[in-house]
Amino acid sequence: MSDCIFCKIIKGEIPCHKVYEDDSVIAFLDIHPVSYGHTLVVPKSHYADFLNTPPEVIADLMAVVQKIAPAILEATKNEAFNIGINTGKLAGQVIFHTHIHIMPRSVNDGLTMWGENPKVVKDFAVLVKQIKDKII
Ligand code: 5GP
Ligand code: ZN
Repeated sequence: MSDCIFCKIIKGEIPCHKVYEDDSVIAFLDIHPVSYGHTLVVPKSHYADFLNTPPEVIADLMAVVQKIAPAILEATKNEAFNIGINTGKLAGQVIFHTHIHIMPRSVNDGLTMWGENPKVVKDFAVLVKQIKDKII
């Protein structure tokens, strides 16, 4: 897509700090890292978000996550990482070209995990039925 930043990076029109590339996937450091080694794994084809990405492309991305995460951990001297796929504006998605965040974690890195929200209704039985009925 012509006005997509990640497509421009893939075409080499915008520079990036590339850590990995193959025929269908590229990975580069996030320009605004949440942790040391924060890396984005991106398909070379443009898809707007996770739900609009073919499952086989997601599989390729995940295979690259598994391939490069150990190297990122070794390089940054970490043992743990989170992966993230923000899907939709309200979930924090800013770039509408599918990507997976790899975020290495270290002691006292200042990042906090999500906790339970006491305000969430726990009508689990009702909810399960509603969800199951809608799975296509
Ligand atoms: P999102 O919020 O869409 O899941 O994540 C988009 C990520 O892309 C953000 O973490 C942001 O820092 C990163 N980003 C945005 N523009 C650029 C860029 O031009 N280069 C690089 N390397 N990362 C970018
Ligand atoms: Zn794109």
